[in-house]
Amino acid sequence: MKNRMTTQPLKLDGNAIAATIKAEVAAEVDVLRRNGITPGLAVVLVGTDPASQIYVRSKVKTCGDLGIFSEMLTPPESVTTDDMLAIIAELNAREDIDGILIQLPLPKHVDTKRLLESVDPSKDVDGFHPVNVGRVQSGQRALAPCTPAGIIEILKRSQLAIAGQQAVVVGRSDIVGKPAAMMLLNESATVTICHSRTRDLAAITRHADILVAAIGRPAFITEDMVKPGAVLIDVGINRVEDAALVARWFPGNASRKESMEKRGSTVVGDIDPRAFAISGAYTPVPGGVGALTIAMLMQNTLTAAKARRGLV
Ligand code: NDP
Repeated sequence: MKNRMTTQPLKLDGNAIAATIKAEVAAEVDVLRRNGITPGLAVVLVGTDPASQIYVRSKVKTCGDLGIFSEMLTPPESVTTDDMLAIIAELNAREDIDGILIQLPLPKHVDTKRLLESVDPSKDVDGFHPVNVGRVQSGQRALAPCTPAGIIEILKRSQLAIAGQQAVVVGRSDIVGKPAAMMLLNESATVTICHSRTRDLAAITRHADILVAAIGRPAFITEDMVKPGAVLIDVGINRVEDAALVARWFPGNASRKESMEKRGSTVVGDIDPRAFAISGAYTPVPGGVGALTIAMLMQNTLTAAKARRGLV
């Protein structure tokens, strides 16, 4: 275990790791293209939600940067489940499309579960189809969900041990908590999953060698809930507008103060940043796990393109 008096916690640079993964993907895409294969991603964005538009634009731009063909489909907010099923059926059948991403959330009147299940599992680059969920669970090769896959990449590429470690995942959502727990288990961690009904959460998190927070509550995991020397993986993305809270969580941090003054808000993870000081390593927010998500989407698109042609 690290000695908290003498060892500086290691800040895990998600941006740098994401850049490395993207460079690796770009190099492989280049080889494929020279052999006449261009991986293709279709992104379906329903309606005009500003946050979804930003995410989608960023995904499309990254495709362009890496040599991946991308196509954006933008059905109106009024689209029906049947319309969407028809769009997906067409994309499933297209030879030039290797990955299909349906940007969530969808309007309430659309049956999201049915749509996600209608995506061809071999093109399911978000890893949400039950076939891929099952493959992850049984430790088979799969298109794994991007955020949990990013967590594993951060740990492995930072040479942080997973096998034999006590991993505690706080959060049990289908897109982050549960698959993250499964993937840590597949790497031979001893995994505990916690949620809103967990009794004495702090007593459990204090045993974690690897603590993954995927809760959606700013600075929820406090220093007293963390074992000194633990690896802290902060998945949370929470926009906070309360300047007094931000000043308390980031004492003397000039860039946070500036962000509050300029934009009136800042993005905070699920772990109180003051807890990072006693950790062995931690992912910052922003610039940690979030930075990996698009890189993993690109990797999944490449994997899908290769797998569909029998190249992996
Ligand atoms: P969900 O709201 O789907 O799940 C939150 C989980 O946290 C639930 O399992 C819930 O438990 C648990 N929880 C809530 N309150 C408590 C509590 N008091 N004690 C213990 N557990 C609690 O969120 P997501 O999994 O989708 O996202 C989690 C966070 O990660 C969010 O901040 C989100 O923005 C971020 N995120 C980041 C991504 C990235 O790219 N970095 C991608 C996806 C999400 P229960 O099941 O009992 O309700």
